[in-house]
Amino acid sequence: MIKSVGVLAKITQVAARVLHGDLTIFGGPALPETIAGRVRAEQISIVTRYTCAMMVANAFNACVLLVAFWSSPQRGEVMIWSFILVTFSTFVYLKRRTNAHRPKPTSLSERTVRRAVVNASVVSLIWASLPLVFFEQASNDGKLVIICLCIGMLCGGAFTLAPVPVAAMTFLAPLSFAAGYTIVRFDNPVYLLLGALLVVYTFALMRGVVTFACQTTEKAIEHILSEEAAHTDNLTKLPNRVAFREGIDAAFTRTRRYGEGFSVFYFDLDEFKAVNDKFGHSGGDELLRQVAERLQSCTREGDILARLGGDEFALIAARASVPEKAMVVADRILKAFSAAFAIDGRQVYCGVSMGIALVPIDGTDPDAIIEKADSALYATKIAGRASYRFFAREHDEKVRDRRLLEQQLRGAVRNQELHLAFQPLANLKTGRVCGFETLVRWNHPERGPISPAVFIPIAEETGIIQELGEWVIRESVKVASKWPAHLHLAINVSAIQFRTSSLLTILHEVLNEYSVAPGRIEIEITESALIAENESTIGLLNSLRQWGVRIALDDFGTGYSSLRYLLDLPLDKIKIDRSFIATAITRPNSAALVKAVVGLARDLNMVVTAEGIETEEQMAFVKAHNCDEGQGYLISMPRLAADLGPFLQDAEPALKLAS
Ligand code: C2E
Ligand code: CA
Ligand code: CA
Repeated sequence: MIKSVGVLAKITQVAARVLHGDLTIFGGPALPETIAGRVRAEQISIVTRYTCAMMVANAFNACVLLVAFWSSPQRGEVMIWSFILVTFSTFVYLKRRTNAHRPKPTSLSERTVRRAVVNASVVSLIWASLPLVFFEQASNDGKLVIICLCIGMLCGGAFTLAPVPVAAMTFLAPLSFAAGYTIVRFDNPVYLLLGALLVVYTFALMRGVVTFACQTTEKAIEHILSEEAAHTDNLTKLPNRVAFREGIDAAFTRTRRYGEGFSVFYFDLDEFKAVNDKFGHSGGDELLRQVAERLQSCTREGDILARLGGDEFALIAARASVPEKAMVVADRILKAFSAAFAIDGRQVYCGVSMGIALVPIDGTDPDAIIEKADSALYATKIAGRASYRFFAREHDEKVRDRRLLEQQLRGAVRNQELHLAFQPLANLKTGRVCGFETLVRWNHPERGPISPAVFIPIAEETGIIQELGEWVIRESVKVASKWPAHLHLAINVSAIQFRTSSLLTILHEVLNEYSVAPGRIEIEITESALIAENESTIGLLNSLRQWGVRIALDDFGTGYSSLRYLLDLPLDKIKIDRSFIATAITRPNSAALVKAVVGLARDLNMVVTAEGIETEEQMAFVKAHNCDEGQGYLISMPRLAADLGPFLQDAEPALKLAS
């Protein structure tokens, strides 16, 4: 008794595994849990392809039986039996036909498999009742027809249900058992032989079913895995651009069919390039993986988050079709990005910029919506990053305008639309000009002068800065070579120019060409150049310094202002940003910062320059607080090279700086 309970438990266990789609018991392939639903969908789709034909065959066989038994005394019972079978077959047939137009599901639950098993067992039980009820009373011809029909159904059922082996087995077992049992009951050696044949056929069929099932499952797994690889981003394991596009198309289909709206987010990481430079590719990859996880944690079921390539991510936010709902998602994401990422054991902050387009508000065409989300993202980046924007028609114009400006900037260097201005830097102790900062100007043929605050970021983003920066170095050194030797030249250099070693080569070449001593050159870098500080940046700064070039930290106080930069990096000068000078007199905090920076610079042997001195009061303040140098409209506006005359006279009297 205990033994039979154990055997029963074992059978149930095996049945449950087979029902789950596990074919390893038969030496078949292991089914990865993540794709089990999709494999089931493949298997069921093969079976449903033959369902209608199988139901027609059922009805046809019922008619054959009816014809064979028409003149027999069992006609009435056979009619009832045929009626039951035809009714059930018609029901299944019609159901399948009404569902035929539905798209093939991508994944199916075990419930669907169970339903197939139930259908298979109902048909099998109806057929199993045929030999049990009619065989004994039937004439020899009738018996022959019954055996033929049973064998035919066994083969047909096994063939059509083979992709779902558990359904095939539930179909084979009752019918073959009933047929075999009925035949063997007769005390007739020929029938005994027939019964034995039936058993052999059934086993052969079962073997065939298992082999076929293993093969189709293996193929389905292979197909799904290769499909998945083609739709997955290797690094983050998120859907890739192809999958995203398909996701958008599917979402639009749902919108058309059920009126279900959604929104499309485009993302861009603000500091990805800097992290990549600082930590190398492996650090960049690590950031992308963590970003993917963080974004994923902000999504809900039904959303599709994808990595489109590089540091670009996109999201289809299901049902977030109005600004209020999309804003909830966007705010959640911004909040998630306010925490630091851990790269190589160090804390790194990385902001995210987002562009959002709403469906159907912003349109019902996939390509147009993608473009709109992208254009909204572009608008966010122009406006200052680490935030989000919804698509707006003006963005389109702004974006178009900016792209046009980008194109024109490319030609500006070659078309001689750029020129340089020079702004004096004064020694506050002696009141004399000690050098000039060169500031690039763009005189646009149609728009007139464009501020470098507008076009330098564009040049940086597009890489034009390399060519533009080289031009600035060449031109400004050429101008400075004509100045008295005690005047130095300050050149602004972008973070991007620091990423290649050509900066050093260019400077070497140009200083040689115009015979300007490296000691007269000052390179101004901003803190953003230092965020990306890595071995090569520090190496480059050191090489410049060893050569005699001085390094100034520009706009101090506006960036990340890590005091670490002041301690760790080879710097000669700090330029306190003009926003602090502008408010030094009215805001005690600004005054405190100026005082602290001067104190720190003294101890670290650095020179302090106060930028943007516009009034006598500000001049008095910076002098009283021991700033070494000053720059600003009060001393002089930036001037053209040709207008620097008064400042270049060695005999020029000390500037009248307020005392
Ligand atoms: P910056 O390096 O901080 O340059 C000083 C800016 O402050 C200049 O603006 C200058 O005209 C302005 N300025 C000077 N004195 C005063 C003042 O008293 N009050 C006020 N309100 N402003 C004053 P500009 O020329 O528009 O340059 C803006 C920024 O563009 C520069 O800021 C610099 O970061 C960048 N830039 C300019 N030329 C170049 C260049 O050749 N290469 C690179 N990479 N960046 C450049
Ligand atoms: Ca500067
Ligand atoms: Ca500055």
